[in-house]
Amino acid sequence: MNLSERDKKHNWHPYTQHKTAQDFPAIVKGKDALLWDENGKEYIDAIASWWVNPYGHSNTIIADAIYKQLTTLEHVLFGGFTHDKAVELSEKLMEILPSNQQKIFYSDNGSTAVEIAIKSALQYNYNKGIKKTKVIAFEDAFHGDTFGAMAASGISFFTEAFKGSLLEVVRIPVPTFGNEEKALQVLENLVKTNDFAAFIFEPLVLGAAGMVMYQPEVLDKMIAICNQNNVFTIADEVMTGFGKTGKTFATDYLENKPDMMCLSKALTGGTIPMAITTFTQEIFDGFYDDDTNKALFHGHTFTANPTGCAAALASIDLLHTNEMQDNIQRVHQSHLTFETKIKNHPKVKTTRVLGVIFALEVKTDTAESYYGTMRTKLYNFFIENGVILRPVGNIIYILPPYIITENQLQKVYQTIENALEIV
Ligand SMILES: *Cc1c(COP(=O)(O)O)cnc(C)c1O
Repeated sequence: MNLSERDKKHNWHPYTQHKTAQDFPAIVKGKDALLWDENGKEYIDAIASWWVNPYGHSNTIIADAIYKQLTTLEHVLFGGFTHDKAVELSEKLMEILPSNQQKIFYSDNGSTAVEIAIKSALQYNYNKGIKKTKVIAFEDAFHGDTFGAMAASGISFFTEAFKGSLLEVVRIPVPTFGNEEKALQVLENLVKTNDFAAFIFEPLVLGAAGMVMYQPEVLDKMIAICNQNNVFTIADEVMTGFGKTGKTFATDYLENKPDMMCLSKALTGGTIPMAITTFTQEIFDGFYDDDTNKALFHGHTFTANPTGCAAALASIDLLHTNEMQDNIQRVHQSHLTFETKIKNHPKVKTTRVLGVIFALEVKTDTAESYYGTMRTKLYNFFIENGVILRPVGNIIYILPPYIITENQLQKVYQTIENALEIV
């Protein structure tokens, strides 16, 4: 039996209906933007393995940093101890985060980063004897799959089975072009009720919704409305962080800065699972007290894992090299050129680009569901042609490693053009 066949015996895959799923390619090697399966077939990883891998697979600079850390101090508990890499990483983050972000809380993945932000918003109010127990989030938001993060997520088939067991979250429209005023109005009405501890959002791009984009100006207004009404703002930059939008963080496009930020995915260059929630001094101070019960009683066994911190330090250094910044610009320019070429194609409804993110909506007669037939057809076509793209319904998007070569990008574009002929 080959790996694909052996896999089916015991492995349960994410977001997978195993009864109808085909055998999955077994990847045995990766280098830069390329992956190879057990049969030697080559794939271009055009979505950076779920957006985690900006600097390419098997990056030796990050690998060396990890090896050095593994053979110096692989792990030590962060409860009651600290270590050099956590200190260095928090200091480095201070250089690149919005200046109001002052405190760093480590965890393991995007969902936990979101849980920690939501719990802090609720407990901050609880510590002060204020009753604010609800959260505001966008329709179609995605914030992760644990209970709090799932409650904040609006893509219903992810959360349908758990309705009734979730934190109370009220949804507002995404302020896409033409919907700004409506979204602002709904937000304004909600925050006046004084029931809400926080507004959580994916800044400028809703990733899992299909790279749905909106403008910084309207988000600035939304943050201002929350600030005026003492509702904390949580920027979930798990997808957008570390260069995806063309700036280090999507919030770098804003005048008004959020109270909290959630980071993960590209934080360690796609190597070690790690996440960070960042806070203003004001939020931290809401827990700072002689009363032990007012502390944030949250932690994970691998909190601030030194190997993860070392990987993050090396990754952030890589991001800020001229070479990597040039790569981001190059990918962005190529996307714009492709957009100009493809946007008038008869099968294309809309296109959008921000930073290294490109998205295209295919025209359909019927509403396409998230994992519907068009999506399956497109996905299979891409895999057959050696390009890893995971369309969301009728939306095809590209979010490649920044180091993808121009030739590889052209192959991705050509494969998308070819795919438009089969749907
Ligand atoms: C992927 C994602 C998450 C969840 O991260 P996990 O590491 O999968 O738990 C949360 N928020 C956003 C915006 C994401 O894209």
